Amino acid sequence: MAKPLELIPIKDWGLFSEDPKPYVIAGPCSAETEEQVLETARGLRAFGINVYRAGIWKPRTHPGNFEGIGTDGLAWLQKVKKETGMAVCTEVANAKHIFDCIKYGLDMVWIGARTTANPFLMQEIADALKGTDIPVLVKNPVNPDIDLWIGALERLNLAGVKKLGVIHRGFSTAEKQEYRNAPGWQIAIELRSRYPELPFFADPSHMGGSRAYLKEISQKSMDLGIEGLMIESHCNPDVALSDAKQQLKPCDLQTLLESLRIREKESAAAEYQKQIDHLRAQIDIIDENLIYTLKSRMEISKKIGEYKKQNNVAILQTARWESLLAKAIESGAKAGLSEKFITDVFNAIHEASVEAQNNILKED
Ligand code: PEP
Ligand code: MN
Repeated sequence: MAKPLELIPIKDWGLFSEDPKPYVIAGPCSAETEEQVLETARGLRAFGINVYRAGIWKPRTHPGNFEGIGTDGLAWLQKVKKETGMAVCTEVANAKHIFDCIKYGLDMVWIGARTTANPFLMQEIADALKGTDIPVLVKNPVNPDIDLWIGALERLNLAGVKKLGVIHRGFSTAEKQEYRNAPGWQIAIELRSRYPELPFFADPSHMGGSRAYLKEISQKSMDLGIEGLMIESHCNPDVALSDAKQQLKPCDLQTLLESLRIREKESAAAEYQKQIDHLRAQIDIIDENLIYTLKSRMEISKKIGEYKKQNNVAILQTARWESLLAKAIESGAKAGLSEKFITDVFNAIHEASVEAQNNILKED
């Protein structure tokens, strides 16, 4: 069981309007000029966005790229707040950033993916936040390590940060793939099930890396029951100094948000409940049968292990495993089950079998 986090519900943070669907944080990747910051904010405010983002300090892969405007940008965010009434937030990566944000009255901060991955920085940030009341959103670490993400949340929570939430922006991979960052939704789902009360945002901009993917990722987030979106928006995306390909004009963001189908967490309708209960009862029986089948399989696998041991034969027989997996993939395809699904399931089964046979070999 995960250690519970002490949390203040997001509706009590005083930043968003009453229970919006979804919660939206929007604004440019980077604050570039006072005009760009204000014009974008006006465009977003015009259709009801309440929380504005803009990066001031930008962690860039290569030196020499635009690394953010620095503290000057905080004064521009103050202006956004004063003129539009929006709450304003930015990314922080060390204690000095926190002190500057507090000095300029920022309403929230977020931790970037590269920083979440660094426990030293997370501790420094947590220490700097002691005694403050500023909400903090923590992006997933760049690598798909749920414990690193949880560790960052724990450090903040231990320092007294209770207005705490997360942003899922996907994970870096060595191989190039369709999205800029691999979604790894299973990690988001795992975190959600461990901390159901933790406010959850998705970041389709950094996950997709392109305007073309924003809609499908946003809809997927809604389908999974994620309650918030952080999306980059720029008054003139094509000339943006960072992440130009993934930013949307405010009016296009409005269109995107209006097109989303929002799912309810639950339905109180009696007929729905009856059907769901009935289907879940069937799933429970199938799951019990699955366990029984896996147990029977494992018993036979152990017998094979005994024979191998008696006959001094090695456990791993690659040809047999390959033909078994190929057969499973073929039957799976006929049953409409994907190759990836069958491969994942059989890999897990095979791994457990090999381990059981290994233990038999080790006896005596
Ligand atoms: C950002 O939100 O501008 C940003 C740099 O994101 P990430 O940490 O997800 O790369
Ligand atoms: Mn960005």
